[in-house]
Amino acid sequence: MNIIQIFEWFPDQESCVAHLEAARWKGEPKCPYCGSANTAPSNDARRRHRCYDCKTSFSVTVGTIFHRTHLPLQKWFLAIMLMLNAKKGLSALQLSRDLDVNKNTAWRIAMQIKRAMTQAEHRLLLAGIVEMDETFIGGKPRKGTKGDGPARTATSAPPSSATTPTISSTNAWRPASWMS
Ligand SMILES: [Zn+2]
Repeated sequence: MNIIQIFEWFPDQESCVAHLEAARWKGEPKCPYCGSANTAPSNDARRRHRCYDCKTSFSVTVGTIFHRTHLPLQKWFLAIMLMLNAKKGLSALQLSRDLDVNKNTAWRIAMQIKRAMTQAEHRLLLAGIVEMDETFIGGKPRKGTKGDGPARTATSAPPSSATTPTISSTNAWRPASWMS
């Protein structure tokens, strides 16, 4: 997913909530208070759900960093996307410009996202929201260095295999027989 897709696919709060539900519940809403799956969606525009077991109503944001936020979910999604993609980190000032929010709000969002990233359950949800592989989160430059490893062995491999064809097969195994 990229920034353009967030704008196109989740243009309003309702589509964002639907996406959050899909990322968090994967089609099986669970009551965040008692864990029951015995729930039903209510028909209101805010997409609340009712739990038949503990008789509470809840929305998908309960227990997430998005709970009781005044910021549109779309901006949260963008913040997550920007932060997860920023290899060298993102300043609150930059985030405030990108999201068109004041610096304090940007700072608060950044802190909440950073904190969420340290907790497996929350990290998984954030990754699911922006459809990124959870293992790539946190800007893994090590993936590049790891990629250099096989590349180096690959470059060192051709010379040895290249020398074998140039030397005739008889020459190639004669030293070996001299050795033994
Ligand atoms: Zn419940």
